[in-house]
Amino acid sequence: MTSYPMSPVRGQMMDQPLLISSIIQFAARHYGQVEIVSRRVEGDTHRYTYADCHARARRAANALAGLGVQMGDRVATLAWNGYRHLELYYAVSGSGAVLHTINPRLHPEQIAYIVNHAEDQVLFFDLTFLPLIEAVAAHCKTVKAFVLLAERERMPQESVIPNLLCYEELLAGSSDDYEWPLFDENSAASLCYTSGTTGNPKGALYSHRSTVLHSYGSAMPNALNVASIDTVLPVVPMFHVNAWGLPYSVLLSGAKMVFPGAALDGKSLYELFETEKVTFSAGVPTVWLGLINYVLQNGLTFSTFRRTVIGGSACPPAMMDTLIDKLDVQVIHGWGMTEMSPLGTTGGLQAKHLALPKDEQRKILQKQGHAIYGVDMKIVDDAGVELPWDGATYGHLLVKGPWIIARYFKNEGGDVLQDGWFPTGDVATIDSDGTMQITDRSKDVIKSGGEWIGTIDLENIAMSHPAVLQAACIGIAHPRWDERPLLLVVRRPGQEVNREDLLKFFEGKIAKFWMPDDVAFIEALPTGATGKIQKNKLREQFKEYKLPTA
Ligand code: ADP
Repeated sequence: MTSYPMSPVRGQMMDQPLLISSIIQFAARHYGQVEIVSRRVEGDTHRYTYADCHARARRAANALAGLGVQMGDRVATLAWNGYRHLELYYAVSGSGAVLHTINPRLHPEQIAYIVNHAEDQVLFFDLTFLPLIEAVAAHCKTVKAFVLLAERERMPQESVIPNLLCYEELLAGSSDDYEWPLFDENSAASLCYTSGTTGNPKGALYSHRSTVLHSYGSAMPNALNVASIDTVLPVVPMFHVNAWGLPYSVLLSGAKMVFPGAALDGKSLYELFETEKVTFSAGVPTVWLGLINYVLQNGLTFSTFRRTVIGGSACPPAMMDTLIDKLDVQVIHGWGMTEMSPLGTTGGLQAKHLALPKDEQRKILQKQGHAIYGVDMKIVDDAGVELPWDGATYGHLLVKGPWIIARYFKNEGGDVLQDGWFPTGDVATIDSDGTMQITDRSKDVIKSGGEWIGTIDLENIAMSHPAVLQAACIGIAHPRWDERPLLLVVRRPGQEVNREDLLKFFEGKIAKFWMPDDVAFIEALPTGATGKIQKNKLREQFKEYKLPTA
């Protein structure tokens, strides 16, 4: 850690470390009666208040101590969005241990790998994941106890899982008399592994300080604008970069929280949005696809839902248009990554944009957005030279700030920073207003005759065709141009469109050399553990593909 010089004149303010426990303490004391509603994997709906959550988090902290968990120990969770998971967010980090949220959609071998890599001491899991834990438990060398997040009657009669404990029993046997310890704010608080599309997953180890600062930053009006008047339903899982920080920012804002559990299909989500009067939500584009289709197909409308953040991969403009124009839901396009806690930029207008026509404003909102205070960014060329903010020049996007990793957990991958900046692996433009637009991930960009073709633009255009449900563009080896774009398309059910129609649809919308060389129609696009389209799988699947131009 860098140490900075101290002025001979010290500020005369209270020295209070920025700790995660302060968030639940604040929420329980100042918004004690605000509700947390959870649809449980058991099938029913559970309700209680921030004050109740705080009491149970204190019990859980005592239970952890009883299990021998010490400061700095890693404690894992494999759980959906729900109140018990939230209790662990505060109990584990608040007591000085490190919360390691595991993505259950990872391959079981990868799960065992990261449990061992993190050296998790205790693993808490939802009932849904019992078979998964039974399959991996024997490979989890460091785990001393497995705790099922359920009541006694849900516990299996017998199980191959060693030292299997019951969460509700542990809590019932623990006191809620617990003082949150004070310690240095730079202590580790939680650990998230990247999905590891190439190579093994690497851990981003957040500190209390970085988490509290990110929670402040992400709640600001220019960012997610979470306030006590809101009812927030995070669709983004608590195992995907801490649900983008919402388990912290919602509590410090005093908003009502609604957890969807495992039911993330359009119908279940819509019903929960309506019954709980949700105003604000957050999730990746693939989830919104299901919800929007359900709402439109059934001629429904949202009565209270007015705002959502969409990120994790590019929000297709057609999706944004549908939400805003047809469903009256404002869309905040967000960009970030696991290594950034995750929030970096959010879409929004500036005062001077208010005079612009609606479609010009929409173009600004479609971009990945403006940096929020706490994040600095720049674009550079291959030699690392900074490029201009003209909205057209694209380059490698680098970021820095107090909630961005300095290195991966256990220094995996060695020095990752470039002159103190973190290379995001994304290619972007930044305009003179500071609005950033992602062109592509550097590994997905198509290199044609020495020029770059950004696949996000091509996919967005394809998805604005009424017969296209989803599209992905990949580079196919080409004898003359190196690589040329192949467009893969999933049609909307019951809709017809052929190759020629689609290619015609691109005419006039892009530079000629960006035109896909071919279109292939497929049943579905492969998605990974965080709901993103896996282009590496598509490249593998289509590696022998012969383009008509080759
Ligand atoms: P993983 O893909 O390994 O799960 P992250 O969730 O951290 O890891 O993904 C971060 C990456 O996702 C970014 O570097 C970027 O490529 C992509 N991404 C995130 N948000 C957006 C967005 N709004 N538009 C385009 N790409 C995005």
